[in-house]
Amino acid sequence: MQSTCDLVIVGAGAAGLAAARAAREAGLNIEIVEAGPRIGGRAFTDTTTFGTAFDLGCQWLHAASINPYTKAADRLGFRYRKDSFRYRIHDGTWWLNDSLVEQFGASLAATYDRIAALGEAGEDVPASRAIDPADPWAPLFRRAYTGYMAWPPEEVSTYDTSRFHFTDEDWPVEDGYGALVAAEGADIEVNLDCPVKSIDWGSDEVMVGTAKGMIFCRAVLVTVSVGVLQAERIKFFPLLPDWKQDALSHLRMGHAEKVGLSLKRDIFTGVGPHFAILNWEGAPTAGFVCKPFDRQMVALFASGPFARDLFAQGADAAIAEAKSLFAKICGADVLKEITAARATNWVTDPLILGAYSVLSPGGGEARGELARPIENRIFFAGEATSVDGFSTAHGAYNSGLAAIELIAEALK
Ligand SMILES: Cc1cc2nc3c(=O)[nH]c(=O)nc-3n(C[C@H](O)[C@H](O)[C@H](O)COP(=O)(O)OP(=O)(O)OC[C@H]3O[C@@H](n4cnc5c(N)ncnc54)[C@H](O)[C@@H]3O)c2cc1C
Repeated sequence: MQSTCDLVIVGAGAAGLAAARAAREAGLNIEIVEAGPRIGGRAFTDTTTFGTAFDLGCQWLHAASINPYTKAADRLGFRYRKDSFRYRIHDGTWWLNDSLVEQFGASLAATYDRIAALGEAGEDVPASRAIDPADPWAPLFRRAYTGYMAWPPEEVSTYDTSRFHFTDEDWPVEDGYGALVAAEGADIEVNLDCPVKSIDWGSDEVMVGTAKGMIFCRAVLVTVSVGVLQAERIKFFPLLPDWKQDALSHLRMGHAEKVGLSLKRDIFTGVGPHFAILNWEGAPTAGFVCKPFDRQMVALFASGPFARDLFAQGADAAIAEAKSLFAKICGADVLKEITAARATNWVTDPLILGAYSVLSPGGGEARGELARPIENRIFFAGEATSVDGFSTAHGAYNSGLAAIELIAEALK
């Protein structure tokens, strides 16, 4: 294959697919190339293991009322639930009562407020600075924050956390968020199984080297994860400029992984869908999504270094740990109820290498710098480039649209 076009889009995740549609509408002649055998990237719904939708990656429509995928779900007939996020806390022996759960909720909100206040005051320091060491809920806050941000608060920026646009609406997609992203991008023609290996931007025309041949173009939009960029899976000639490498050095991949377990019966009778947080001394940064959509299922949601180290050992180790934690909170007998299991492997997937991006304290404007084009020819999008929607599918989507606005202007 050797071809010529205006723009090559590298990666067909949420950012790449959104960009491709916008580019088509802007009249650009594009090629979109994806290394894997499917579209969606970190948005991926498994519909076979459990005979029902199980999201391996994104699952909740965060900031749902301003999330473009909520509109897409309505248009495409995907069901989602406007559930508020209900959680329970297990102390290793039993579930804490409602009043203690409420106390934790108040402490959690107050700590997030202090993080926001620091960040809004321009303090770019570890989020852990906002934790009151005298607060008995401090250890649980650390675990909850790690669950959300995919990395511990000691190594995450207050400034970055404070810029995320929260609306307190996290709506789970019943038919699968991954399936929704794929359905929304189904009409985009994508070159699958076509990894980009090199981008040569040393002369007027940009040369994109792929496993299936060379593409000559006027501009490239790179949407791969921070992990893939840092691992230099794509070689740039000349090298990326220092300011771009500096931006990348302030970012890292956080880790979030899941193990789904289906059950023979409802073991939470009388209790609706909820998130079970583990809270005992030495508890891992993990919790269980219990009874999602009232299905007879639980899903371990592991995060941070714990998730990285466990899931790097492979699916068997992850499933064994999920079962052991599940037995700890629900009794050893529940293990007899398990009918099927599925573990994710984002940490070892060479096309992703983690869950989503995290900005280190002192990282400042690194996300904006990652998004900044190089010589109006090499452009970047993807969740990590979003200042107010990082780590999410809608942030990725919006970043793809923003990049096309710049590209259309640059290629006029
Ligand atoms: C466990 C987990 C839970 C999550 N939960 C949520 C959630 O509830 N809600 C939410 O909004 N977000 C969630 N996210 C985050 C969300 O899934 C991502 O932020 C979003 O999907 C990223 O989209 P993207 O387009 O930026 O990147 P990607 O989806 O990574 O797309 C990049 C694409 O580039 C491809 N690629 C890589 N290398 C090459 C190459 N050399 N050549 C060509 N193509 C290449 C990849 O295969 C991939 O398809 C979750 C993520 C994980 C892992």
